[in-house]
Formats: sequence, C-alpha cells, structure tokens
Amino acid sequence: MLTNKPTVRRSPLHAKLEDGRVECRICERRCKIPEDERGYCRTRVNWGGELYTLTYGDLSAVESRPIEIKPFFHFWPGSTAITISTWSCNFPCPWCQNWHISKTIPNPETASYTPPEYVISKAIEHGDEGTCVSFNEPLMLFEYSLDLFKKAREKRLYNTYVSNGYMTTEALELLTKAGLDGLKIDVKGDPEVYRKVLNADGTVPWRNAEYALKRGIHVEIVCLLVTGISDSEEVIDWIIEEHLKRLGPETPIHFTRYYPAYRYGEPPTKIEKLEYAYERARKEGVLFPYLGNVAGHPYENTYCPGCGKAVIKRYGYSVVKYKITKDKRCK
Ligand code: SF4
Repeated sequence: MLTNKPTVRRSPLHAKLEDGRVECRICERRCKIPEDERGYCRTRVNWGGELYTLTYGDLSAVESRPIEIKPFFHFWPGSTAITISTWSCNFPCPWCQNWHISKTIPNPETASYTPPEYVISKAIEHGDEGTCVSFNEPLMLFEYSLDLFKKAREKRLYNTYVSNGYMTTEALELLTKAGLDGLKIDVKGDPEVYRKVLNADGTVPWRNAEYALKRGIHVEIVCLLVTGISDSEEVIDWIIEEHLKRLGPETPIHFTRYYPAYRYGEPPTKIEKLEYAYERARKEGVLFPYLGNVAGHPYENTYCPGCGKAVIKRYGYSVVKYKITKDKRCK
C-alpha cells in the first residue's frame, strides 16, 4: 500500500464530489481528480475519495542560502534560511529556470523521506535565522510546510515562501496560521500572458499578495522579464500599475533578467528593458524597485526615498555595505 509510505499523506484542503472525484483546493487550478488519478501538478492523487500528497518530505534540496538570493531585500537582510524543495509544479512555464526539479514527476515508490525535525536541526546547526520553501513551487510541499512552519516558529525561526502565488485563499490562510512570515510572489506578466501561455488567471497572484499584506506577511514581488513574453512596455506598465494599486508604493518589486532555459531559447533580457522597468516604476511612485541577475548594476542597491543616498549596497545577492541605523534611518 502506497499510503503506508512516509512521503504519502492525507491532504487537508479538498472536497468530495458526488461523482467520486475529489476537488483539490490547494491552488486555483482546483483540479477535479477522478479516482486513482493525479491532479495537474502530479503531486496529489485521489484514492478512495480522499486527496493525498505524494511529496510530503520528499526533498530535492536542503541548503542554507542567503535571504537576498530569493530575492527578499527588505526582510532580515544579511540572514540565511534553510531552503528546501521537492519536485514538479502547477505552472507550465517553458522558460523555467529550475526545470530539472520542476519538470520531474514525483515517484512515491522510490522517494526518500526527510522529517521536518531534520530540516530544523540543520537550520540550527548552520546558524540560519529562518526557513524557505523555494526552487520549485512551494505549494508542492504545502502539507509539509504547515508542519515545518509550526515547528520552526517554536524554535524562533522565520518562515518564507518563494511562490508563483497561485494558492487558494484557504491555503494561504492555513499557511499564515502555521507561521508564514514572508511571501515572494513571481508575477509572470499581464493577464494575457497568464491566459495564453500558462492557462491561468493573472489576477490570482495579486489577490494573494494583497491578502498576505493585510494579514501582516512581508511581501515582495518579482517579475522575470522574459524576452518576447513579458518584456514589452505594455506588459511592464500594466504590472507597475497593478503593483501600485494593489500593494502600494512601499512594497519592493524586482525586475530580473531571464536567461534561456528548458524549452525557451530567446536571448537574455536586454538590459535596456530592465532599466526601462526600473525607471518607469520609480517615475510612477514605487519607492523600492530593483533589478536582479545583473550583478554590479547600481539598480541592485537600496536608495533612501528621502535623501536619495545608497543605504544598502549590493553586489549580486550579497550585501556589501549597510548604512541604516537600528531605528531605520540613513547613517
Ligand atoms: S495543487 Fe496540484 S492537484 Fe491541487 S489544484 Fe493545484 S495543480 Fe491541481
């Protein structure tokens, strides 16, 4: 029986339908899964009218990483987080930068199990200040995250998600209650990009970012400007407008450079396109725009919105100068 495997667990968010299918309510795909079949992401299965996850503690990575690399620039700067991932994804991005894990279908027969306690002990051993579920979509580890976050909180560690933001509100609420402190959401483009390329609803990540902010979770937005997909002025302008409308001027937004990967071979994002996004965001009133994947660019730094001085200087994802006092003023 596969249900005896430690990486196979009952999943809390689902509804039984009259025809024997089960509706998964973890992400907004809301897959209606027939008996003995898996949902879109291939990590959840309907067995006997119950929803099971196949990836509980089936970890593809356990690594201590700087929080800036996520990127989170306004959350525990200079700290490190024990970072974990599993397999598969609920999005089909052809340019996926982590395709080696996101395009792998989990196999509970051969999976190895890592308990949440092990992850916490590794964090403490490394001197990490928090946890992060990242690399592939963290919702693939939703059930595990709930247990991990509660245990991490008990040890005074922070908890973060690096996500496409496509969770249901119910899932986000459970994560919040379990101890989610920081949420980085990848916005893939305007609603047209979501509809045409991802077969998804482009309003969901913004709804969730807004919800998370209201629940006191630290939020940062990242847009990978993919050549020919999301690097047009029209798409960039839409994202900036939505960002300001939904999240306000103080929420950081990162425009990051894409490189060819997986099944998408267009050249890397032109630097001028990234600079356009940064400058446009500034002009429209975003206080903390950033560029990413362009090491050494001055737009990686944090500038004081009051006096314009560079108060946090970065190189790549490392902080090289920090000029802010304990009460959050320029030195
Ligand atoms: S988490 Fe997976 S199974 Fe559940 S709704 Fe999303 S894609 Fe479907």
